[in-house]
Amino acid sequence: MRHADGMEGIKVCAPGPGKCPICATEHDPSAPHDRDSLYYQYRFYRDNKRFPSWENAMNHCSEKVRAAWRKKLARRGVDSKAEGVTGHV
Ligand SMILES: [Zn+2]
Repeated sequence: MRHADGMEGIKVCAPGPGKCPICATEHDPSAPHDRDSLYYQYRFYRDNKRFPSWENAMNHCSEKVRAAWRKKLARRGVDSKAEGVTGHV
């Protein structure tokens, strides 16, 4: 993504009460963040200058949880290491 794409001008509201402070959705703390959450993507992009992969979203999970999610994603044809929004999940 180029600088001229305007990511710097996007403002996203803070997560509401009861939402994950990282991805702004409701999920068990042991589960992955919602990689497709706009809040998560913007925050990740701001910090890393690239969009997150599902591996990034699962980084805080146990290996057992990551393995289960990799299988689920693979069954849907999703490469967990692919970055950005694909619309597959
Ligand atoms: Zn989250």
